[in-house]
Amino acid sequence: MEQRIEARIAAAASIAIVGHVHPDGDCLGSCLGMYHYLRGRCPEKTIQVYLEPFPKRLGILPGADQISHNFTDGKSYSLCLCMDTADRERLGGASVYLDRADHSICMDHHITNTRFAEENLVEPWASSASEVAAARMDLTKISRETAECLYLGIVHDTGVFRHSNTGERTMRIAGALVAKGIPFSQIIEHTFYEKSLAQNRVIGYSLMNARLYCGGNMIGCALSESKIRQCGATPMDMDGIIDLMRETENVETAVLLYETEPGSWKISMRSNEIVDVSRIARHFGGGGHVRAAGGRSTSGPDQTLEEIAAEVNQQLQEAEQSGS
Ligand code: 5GP
Ligand code: MN
Repeated sequence: MEQRIEARIAAAASIAIVGHVHPDGDCLGSCLGMYHYLRGRCPEKTIQVYLEPFPKRLGILPGADQISHNFTDGKSYSLCLCMDTADRERLGGASVYLDRADHSICMDHHITNTRFAEENLVEPWASSASEVAAARMDLTKISRETAECLYLGIVHDTGVFRHSNTGERTMRIAGALVAKGIPFSQIIEHTFYEKSLAQNRVIGYSLMNARLYCGGNMIGCALSESKIRQCGATPMDMDGIIDLMRETENVETAVLLYETEPGSWKISMRSNEIVDVSRIARHFGGGGHVRAAGGRSTSGPDQTLEEIAAEVNQQLQEAEQSGS
C-alpha cells in the first residue's frame, strides 16, 4: 500500500467502507475484499461496510451479511474508505460517513473520477477497483475470504476476463487469488452467468424490441417500469442485457434505458472499439469508462435514444476523419 495510505489506515481507530449506489459485483467485491483484508491486519479496529441493497446473488460473498444498509445510524468513523466510486454524489446516502470522517481514501478505476477524497488511488487502466486494491496486497498472505471477494469483483468488471480492460496484471492477480483455493467456478457460474426466469424474460423482451440506429452502428432498447414488472423482474435484474446487445454483428455501441422510477431512466452504454461512451455519459450527468458508462435521463426514452445516437454518429465521424 502507498505510504500515505498505509499511514492513514494505521492511524485510524475506526473505518467505514462505502461504495456506489446500486452496488455491482466490483463494488461489493472491493468493499468486502478491503473489509476482510483490514480486519485480518488490524483486528483491534472497528470496521463497518455501508452499501445500498445489492443483487441477491452477490450475497454468497463472505461478510455480505455484515453489511449495513442503514445510513441513519448517526455513527462517525475516523477514516472513510470509498471503493469503486467516481464522485461524491455516487455514494448516495452513504456520503454521510465521508462527510463525518476525519480522513478519507478513494480507491477506484473510473476515468471520470473527480479525486473527491483526501487520498485518491485512481487507476483508470485497471480492470476494477478490486484489482486496484489487490495490487497493493501481498497476495500470498491474504485470507481466502479476501481472495473470494476480490476475485468476484475482477470477474464481474471484466465480464469474466473478456473485456479490453483485462490486462496482464489482472491475470497475474487472478492467478494468485485462484491459488488460494477459492471456488472460482461457483463464483463465476452462480454470480455472473446464472439468471432467474424473470431475468431471462427481460433479456428476451429487450432483444426482441431492440432497434438499430446510426445505420446499424448502434443498438438501443428501452424498458419501462411496467414492462420490467410484467416480466416479474425489478430494475436490479438488468445485468447481462447490455452485453448481449453489444454482441450484435456490426454494432459499435449498445444502449439500454430502463425506468427506475416513473419518468426517470437509467442509461447503460457499452462500446466495442471506437466510441468513448464515458464522454456521452457526462452529458447525462453520469460517467464511467471509455467502453462502459452510464447516466440518467428524464427526457423520455425515444428522445434520449435519439440524442445518444446523434453523439455516437458525431464520434464515428470524428474517428473517420482522424483516420482511425
Ligand atoms: P452500468 O451500465 O453497468 O450500470 O455501468 C457501467 C459503468 O458506468 C460502471 O463502471 C458504473 O460505475 C458507471 N456508471 C453507471 N451509471 C453511472 C452514473 O450515473 N454516474 C457515474 N458517474 N457513473 C456511472
Ligand atoms: Mn468497478
